[in-house]
Amino acid sequence: MVQLTEAYGDEGRARRLLERLRWPSGVICPHCQNAGEKRISPLAARAGSPHGVRPGVYFCGACRRQFTVTVGTILEGSHVPIAKWLLALFLLGSAKKSLSANQLHRMIGVSYKTAWFMCHRLRWAMTPPPAALPKLTGTVEVDETFVGPKGRPKTPVVALLERQGLARVKIIATVSQHNLGAALAECVSPEAIVNTDEHPGYKNPLKAWQAHRTVNHSRGEYQKPHPDGSRTSTNTAESFFALFKRAIVGAWHHISREHLPRYASEFAFRWNTRHASEGERIEKIVQCFAGKRLTYRQTTQTSCVC
Ligand SMILES: [Zn+2]
Repeated sequence: MVQLTEAYGDEGRARRLLERLRWPSGVICPHCQNAGEKRISPLAARAGSPHGVRPGVYFCGACRRQFTVTVGTILEGSHVPIAKWLLALFLLGSAKKSLSANQLHRMIGVSYKTAWFMCHRLRWAMTPPPAALPKLTGTVEVDETFVGPKGRPKTPVVALLERQGLARVKIIATVSQHNLGAALAECVSPEAIVNTDEHPGYKNPLKAWQAHRTVNHSRGEYQKPHPDGSRTSTNTAESFFALFKRAIVGAWHHISREHLPRYASEFAFRWNTRHASEGERIEKIVQCFAGKRLTYRQTTQTSCVC
């Protein structure tokens, strides 16, 4: 990302780069969604404006309000320069094994607390609202695992993945029929062919699906051929978990149960954009910035907001 390197250290360039990433087809007013070029003007350019000194402020002629590129986004109200946000975005977006707040704190020169909060805001941006996500189709592998630090209660995590496509991850309270059924209903199309291991919790909920095929892990069976020519396995889900666990193992002592859904979202986001270039992935994350304000209080509340 040559552009990012150039932008870093120059707030004006960083802001213009963020504007291009957020508004690739031209400036849009975040207050009224007016996108009419003629009705939006940089405030500095308006004759007689007393506010001309602050760059990056726009005036919307439709709603007569002012805004900057950060209004209505995860960056709103942050005192961290945009250049540092972009660098954090680049580092988190391209880190295959995630990034700890401690690493970010050292790499971009902000306090640990600020770095922690930036990571969480970026993860929150990478958490799409469930309704915005398409249901998984085709052959879908579903598997569960437990994550958590040694000697403490483990948290169940369910991964649901199209074999060649998208992934969803759900953190559940217990591995029960009810919770597995809810995760399946939210994420998987009833027309999908669902592959699981022989965990009894899947059997009843999956009666409503077109097909449920199983492999028996306790007998050492990891894949088996199906008469239709496909193979039954949960190997994709297991690769996903292997990567997920490697990503959180280093940072685990900083991850509490209530923040786990956001780590899972970050991970699923990177998995789901694994065929995109780093630049394309960053554009996609910025496209999710709007409508995602997250206050420090929200992140420290016991119940997760996502
Ligand atoms: Zn407006």
